[in-house]
Amino acid sequence: MAQSPAGSVADVTAAIDQASAAFPDWRAVPPAERVQYLFKLKALLEEHFDEIARITVTENGKTLGEARGELRRGIENVEVACGIPTLMQGYNLEDVARGIDESMFRQPLGVAAVITPFNFPSMIPLWFLPYAIACGNTLVLKPSERVPFSMVRVFELIEQTGLPKGVVNLVNGGKTAVDALLDHPAVQAVSFVGSTPVAKYIYARASANGKRVQCQGGAKNHVVIMPDADPETTTQIVGDSAYGCAGQRCLAVSVAVTVGDARRWFPKSISEMAASLKVGPGLEDGVQMGPVITPASRDRIESLIAKGASEGASVAIEGRDRKVAGFEKGHFVGPTVLDGVSAASELAETEIFGPVLSLIHAADIDDAMAIIARNSYGNAASIFTSSGAAARKFRNQIPTGNVGVNIGVAAPMAYFPFSGWKGSFFGVLHAQGRDAVEFYTGEKVVIERWPKEWSRRF
Ligand code: NAD
Repeated sequence: MAQSPAGSVADVTAAIDQASAAFPDWRAVPPAERVQYLFKLKALLEEHFDEIARITVTENGKTLGEARGELRRGIENVEVACGIPTLMQGYNLEDVARGIDESMFRQPLGVAAVITPFNFPSMIPLWFLPYAIACGNTLVLKPSERVPFSMVRVFELIEQTGLPKGVVNLVNGGKTAVDALLDHPAVQAVSFVGSTPVAKYIYARASANGKRVQCQGGAKNHVVIMPDADPETTTQIVGDSAYGCAGQRCLAVSVAVTVGDARRWFPKSISEMAASLKVGPGLEDGVQMGPVITPASRDRIESLIAKGASEGASVAIEGRDRKVAGFEKGHFVGPTVLDGVSAASELAETEIFGPVLSLIHAADIDDAMAIIARNSYGNAASIFTSSGAAARKFRNQIPTGNVGVNIGVAAPMAYFPFSGWKGSFFGVLHAQGRDAVEFYTGEKVVIERWPKEWSRRF
């Protein structure tokens, strides 16, 4: 498609130096003035909406509808960050002791580093960038080396807003560039989204270097299908969740747990839906699912399907060896249904990150919830039911950070935290909304005494 540099240590250092140099002036710009650049960015992103979505399709492989959807969610974060003059306010109290007042101010930290994955090239950087700079920080972004181009275009638009030079900086590359960010003393905060092993590594290394860190990791999301769920809408929504973005979503449903009699209808209806999906290139009209990101990813997904079969599951809908006419070299995997996966199998624990839905059958809701609770990830879980009591129990007790009730992709809006738990998140404060504002600011508490007698002269 194009060439993108693999950032060296020197490139990263130069970017951090730029960000450090820009920080003193940028933090002094009043918040209400800082967000004017974000209002301009929002307008430019709207103006170039389809152009950016098309770049995302060509570099990532998802469909145009999916690329538009992610950019919309990204822009929503720009909109929320425009509220910084309110969101960044501290609080205060007069007379904490006689004649003594106490205030808490939020102040920017300095240079923030953001490291993002391949699956949402435009949205995930925007989970962080708008909040970091609106709070008065400067930033170095390193997108996934597999999808560098969406952000190149967004940064060109940022340049058009007139944002002072050095406030945001883009570097590309892989581990070398990441390590340079983690080790540089000027970087104060690190935000990461990607797989769990890399999240753990980055959390440990950046924390050891004294930085503030938030790391979102991988996922294995379950949906519980109760016997009283509406078959038609449940099938549609669960299918969209499992196969949308070719299953390469950290909130994609990966395992459907049917409870009791749901087993009678769900495997058949989801298999029919999976088989009906049109697979092909993302820019083609009517295509519902694109390829996966790399040949290595396709091979990995196909080997996990084989593993499921060898562990005793039946391949109800086969996605391996999928060929799309005219795109024979494309790395397509067809929608796959693995029925009768054992809850104790290795596959039931492994993040597949492809268009594969495993079906596990449970006797009752307690069984189903126990299967989810045993999983090492905690990104999201959903229940489909028409029973308020079942929904309430699920919401109250399920150990995941995002929960859906009759929702397939429980993706928090920009003004709520993107709240993974367990092996899906390392840190305290999450991405988006108020959490992002807290993450990108330090709290400064000021205690003041102004005795009357000192003012006598005036
Ligand atoms: P990845 O972990 O391979 O890469 C993510 C980023 O880390 C990239 O920028 C990459 O260059 C860098 N990186 C990769 N290996 C590294 C290493 N050894 N040392 C330092 N940096 C390294 O993830 P990916 O394949 O791009 O994305 C898919 C993963 O991201 C899945 O596991 C998915 O669940 C997860 N994800 C999670 C969320 C969430 O919100 N929790 C959102 C999207 C994706």
